[in-house]
Amino acid sequence: MSDAKTVAIVGAGPVGSLAALYFANEGWNVTLYDLRADPRLERTPGSTASTGKSINLALSHRGIEGLKGASTKLAGMITNNVVPVYGRMIHDKKGRQESQAYDVHGQHINAVDRGWLNWALLDEADERPNVALKFGHRLLQCDFDAKMVKFITKDGEVEVNVDLVVGADGAHSTVRNQLMKVARQRVDFEQKYIDTLWCEISIPSHVTEDGKKEYPLDPNHLHIWPRKTFMLMSLANIGDDKSFTGTLFMPQSNFDDITYPQDVLDFFRTYFPDVIPLIGEEYLVKQFFNNPKGSLVSIKCTPYHYLDRCVLIGDAAHAMVPFYGQGMNCGFEDVQQLFMHMKANNAVSSALEKYTLVRRQDLFAISDLAMANYVEMRSSVTSKMYLARKHTEEF
Ligand code: FAD
Repeated sequence: MSDAKTVAIVGAGPVGSLAALYFANEGWNVTLYDLRADPRLERTPGSTASTGKSINLALSHRGIEGLKGASTKLAGMITNNVVPVYGRMIHDKKGRQESQAYDVHGQHINAVDRGWLNWALLDEADERPNVALKFGHRLLQCDFDAKMVKFITKDGEVEVNVDLVVGADGAHSTVRNQLMKVARQRVDFEQKYIDTLWCEISIPSHVTEDGKKEYPLDPNHLHIWPRKTFMLMSLANIGDDKSFTGTLFMPQSNFDDITYPQDVLDFFRTYFPDVIPLIGEEYLVKQFFNNPKGSLVSIKCTPYHYLDRCVLIGDAAHAMVPFYGQGMNCGFEDVQQLFMHMKANNAVSSALEKYTLVRRQDLFAISDLAMANYVEMRSSVTSKMYLARKHTEEF
């Protein structure tokens, strides 16, 4: 029998899948659980059916470094399948655009397909002999002292004995809820919903007269339509489809005020007139009413661990509002940092304790920065400080 330690990673999203690779590299016996069906069963680029999350996201240097720690080959494959984004493109109400570079040396972020990234990580995990993937397993309960976790599957409840439980089960983490019940660990917890909902609006490719698909906007910019109390932003999707995915971030009351198709068109004509011809009136109205409206929550907690039995990573440890584009990137960095401590400390309990102590300042800071960046994106980018133009009244 192998004397390798066993780890149950709960959550096969991007962060849990990456963690599976790191644990496998260090010789652990890894089982990666998720309540969903295997998302690779619906391999359509751009599919969000199984995640309920945004279609594309920004992968930054921080996230790429996290990927490299698991496999430089995988990180290379992923960074070859992105659209580089070198700056913001600010759109005013008259449809004029202004480019604001992120960096004078050309550093950039990368638009990546969320579903594809998750599939790539799962494919890599599948190749490791010491990783088992178990979908259709919803975690119900952890007894950390008894080293036991309990799942519910379509065939009933399953109990598993395990040395370490890793909570990578997202913002509404069951592992975190179980950790908060461990009296001696005294987990502090703070949750804040902001008064903003998000709704994705696809911007299809432009089809030329000879039937060629082209991006409808410059793909190497993050496009922002800042309107002070709300905003539309848009990132290019990778692939032959050459579409963009826009996300409208707006207070609930503004969404509630828009009841009829004519309201949608009036609203877009007033605030985003250049977007209507790109999408088409009918498709715009259909998407506005049919696409889900998501909420945005910021969660802080500490500590992230219990003895050598449990640790939280990714959104389970620190859900943040998406305006800094760093939620997943930070989750990848969590895994990298966790293993830095694992390698520097013989005892797993010491490594987990160090992870909590060192990581929390950074995570609290980036959560606060993400919150502050909402004001920056929807309003401050229109100030004279940023704009080359001398007028700001068209925002
Ligand atoms: P998740 O992706 O939430 O995955 C958690 C997994 O756990 C899921 O697969 C779920 O099925 C599973 N699970 C949950 N409960 C259980 C249970 N009880 N038992 C078993 N399995 C369970 N981040 C960026 O870095 N860049 C961006 O540009 C960016 N843009 C964003 C835009 C929007 C609109 C939003 C909402 C978020 C954005 N984020 C971005 C944040 C990013 O989506 C998250 O930080 C990231 O998905 C977190 O990954 P995760 O693996 O920790 O959690």
